[in-house]
Amino acid sequence: MDFELNEEQRIIQEMAAKFARRELEPVAAELDRTKDRDILKANLKKLAELGFMGLNVDPEYGGSGAGSMAFSLVMTELGRACAATAVTASVTNMVAEVIQAMGTEELKNKYIPPLCSGEYPAGSFGLTETCAGSDPAAMRTSAVLEGDFWVLNGNKIFISSAEYAGCFVVWAVTDKEARKGRGISAFLVEPGFPGFMVGRDEHKMGQRASSTNELIFENCQVPRENVLGKVNDGFRIAVGELAGGRIGIGSMSLGIGLAAMDCATRYVQERIQFDKPIASQQAIQWMIADNYTRLEAARLLLLRAAYLKDQGKHYSREASMGKLYATESANKACYDAIQMLGGYGYTNDFPVERFYRDVRVTTIYEGTSEIQRLIIARDLLG
Ligand SMILES: Cc1cc2nc3c(=O)[nH]c(=O)nc-3n(C[C@H](O)[C@H](O)[C@H](O)COP(=O)(O)OP(=O)(O)OC[C@H]3O[C@@H](n4cnc5c(N)ncnc54)[C@H](O)[C@@H]3O)c2cc1C
Repeated sequence: MDFELNEEQRIIQEMAAKFARRELEPVAAELDRTKDRDILKANLKKLAELGFMGLNVDPEYGGSGAGSMAFSLVMTELGRACAATAVTASVTNMVAEVIQAMGTEELKNKYIPPLCSGEYPAGSFGLTETCAGSDPAAMRTSAVLEGDFWVLNGNKIFISSAEYAGCFVVWAVTDKEARKGRGISAFLVEPGFPGFMVGRDEHKMGQRASSTNELIFENCQVPRENVLGKVNDGFRIAVGELAGGRIGIGSMSLGIGLAAMDCATRYVQERIQFDKPIASQQAIQWMIADNYTRLEAARLLLLRAAYLKDQGKHYSREASMGKLYATESANKACYDAIQMLGGYGYTNDFPVERFYRDVRVTTIYEGTSEIQRLIIARDLLG
């Protein structure tokens, strides 16, 4: 692997960093406090204008075709400033990629350009159900073909961006008799389809401005042609796309961890106790050294997974390693950042308490840390 970023990747990284500093950072605390949808939508629109909503999508469909390494770099910069905006961008990129990988030409031309241009503020990925979290193959939402429509019944929970998504990729059981995980299909659903409703927004600890909702399907009519890929072959799509999404979530968590450490590192050089800056204490220096070392290792793991993906090589083990290590390192960095700021770290005078709340979910969604370990071990054990 070449450790140098190419010219395009460097430019994209700089653009993302500048945008995050100038546009996202100044509104992040207000967004967290108020969940103001107008602020969030304005952020998302600007991200689309910069080409960040289809980073790994072909220009033919409105994407920027910059690749997965560029996606990882952008997500880290966005994560540094506003996790709620960053996670929306990560999932929207993933949705556009699923459609690109599995959709017919007609579906690609219909749904990808509005995702990339910002006409749809976001895309949603509807997999999880009450009885199907870490084990999504246990899902119960069903789809039955009736004439020109698939009729969907059931519920999804914890679906990001559902309140303002322009389209949803939703999984449902299409063959109840098939072996577990075999009779599942993926569908493209629009907010206005009859029988489809979005439930209430969950009250969350962090990433509060990103909505997390239930999806309700009551005899929901989905046009026959809105199936992604082959009927009964949707579970494979979900598993494949989640691996790519894990690079996004890992990269975003890396950004949150770095932002927390940058803030704490500045603080400890100014804070005087026992007549000298606390940065002169070895206990504090070791926290700085250990955390930046872990975060740098996480960055390399994530970029390696993204590089393999860009080369068309197998990358799911590496994506899981990257997500596992980055999210756990970022959680530790945010924990230590609060420790380094002492009591002030626990107040909202400084952003580290928000980083701490925002980073917590990253070891849970898009596959918990335990599930990442399971994937890695299974791959190693064959
Ligand atoms: C804010 C937020 C946003 C989300 N966004 C989306 C979204 O957009 N789309 C979507 O489809 N889903 C989404 N999710 C759902 C998320 O992916 C699930 O919450 C996650 O996969 C875990 O499922 P669960 O919550 O049911 O936990 P469970 O599966 O019940 O797990 C509970 C605990 O048991 C452990 N566990 C479970 N099975 C095993 C095992 N075999 N071995 C060891 N430990 C195990 C888990 O690791 C965890 O620690 C979101 C969740 C949140 C909180």
